[in-house]
Amino acid sequence: MYNVEEIRADFPILARTVYGKPLVYLDNGATTQKPRCVVDAITDEYYSVNANVHRGVHFLSQQATELHEASRETVRRFINARSTNEIVFTRGTTESINLLASSFGEAFLGEGDEVIVSTMEHHSNIVPWQLLQMRKGIKLRVIPMNDCGELLLNEYERLFTERTRIVCVTHVSNVLGTVNPVKDMIATAHAHGVPVLVDGAQSIPHMPVDVQALDADFYVFSGHKVYGPTGVGVLYGKEEWLDKLPPYQGGGEMIQHVSFERTTFNELPFKFEAGTPDYIGTTGLARALDYVTTLGMDRIAAYEHDLTEYATRRLKEIPGMRIFGEAAEKGSVISFLVGDIHHFDMGTLLDRLGIAVRTGHHCAQPLMQRLGIEGTVRASFALYNTKEEIDALVAGVERVSRMF
Ligand code: PLP
Repeated sequence: MYNVEEIRADFPILARTVYGKPLVYLDNGATTQKPRCVVDAITDEYYSVNANVHRGVHFLSQQATELHEASRETVRRFINARSTNEIVFTRGTTESINLLASSFGEAFLGEGDEVIVSTMEHHSNIVPWQLLQMRKGIKLRVIPMNDCGELLLNEYERLFTERTRIVCVTHVSNVLGTVNPVKDMIATAHAHGVPVLVDGAQSIPHMPVDVQALDADFYVFSGHKVYGPTGVGVLYGKEEWLDKLPPYQGGGEMIQHVSFERTTFNELPFKFEAGTPDYIGTTGLARALDYVTTLGMDRIAAYEHDLTEYATRRLKEIPGMRIFGEAAEKGSVISFLVGDIHHFDMGTLLDRLGIAVRTGHHCAQPLMQRLGIEGTVRASFALYNTKEEIDALVAGVERVSRMF
């Protein structure tokens, strides 16, 4: 049994009010709320273990190191990586992609080389590659999509040339909710001898992910979108790839030996982790992953699927409703506009009713250009949302619509 009321009790913030109304938090695509066990794990570590990791002989440092490395093992298990050497801790999806673009770009990209991205990428998976475009003269090739928000896989196949070096694609669109067929897309890329980076920011919180089953070369995500703390994220990379990449940043931890004549680098994954890591954040992330694992990623996915279907059906009853993204495979995100009501006005008025949604371009301006709009209202659901909250959203949208 999926007992959503019991689950909600784990998230203290959900009990608060906003403008005197019960909070209806539907901005989970931006960040998720934190269960008590995550916050407790963070406070407990600060209160009773805190010490810098990896370089201490003393008891606390060793205990903190054990916790930090146990968190790496939790992440490994969660995405079924082969080894903890393949789990690099970063500050989040954005840093993971920048790390890869910088390091992969340094080693493998030169003038005229091509990187394939899709129309529906978040700016985080566009701009780091564009920086390489400016620095190194690489080219971006873009996978187009149909009006339902599905990538055109025939066109994708046609984008490969002998200059294609990497494919960078999101698993789930943060605007349309489209679940891209990344397993097939990876197989296509591999048939051309090209590795694939999957942006898992919007998939990891909502579905089971097995990086080996997908055969992903790189997979990235943020802790804060999966009920963990801010400031911590993951870059998964196949060991054979990470071994070939140069370090991203220099500093403590990432070295084996430093002299002014010659510095040698640490083994994986530490080669990519310069400086003091967010070892408290990794504990919080591990606890969050334990939390969703206990609930069951399959059950979370099924529950959120029902919620999204219900919300889509109810929202569609509203006159003038336009939903963007109607892919056959869709996650728990609904982007919409009603008549000619500006997304910002809709979001602001919903907020007055206690309903938190996101408005704007959602860091996906090229996608907005493809859709011919400036922005949308986005409701994104999480494991603790309820049908009653969706009823509140629908009533709120109806009320705002009547005002215009
Ligand atoms: N990629 C996608 C698909 C996202 O939705 C987001 C955040 O909204 C990001 C990347 C960036 O994540 P972060 O800001 O946590 O680095």
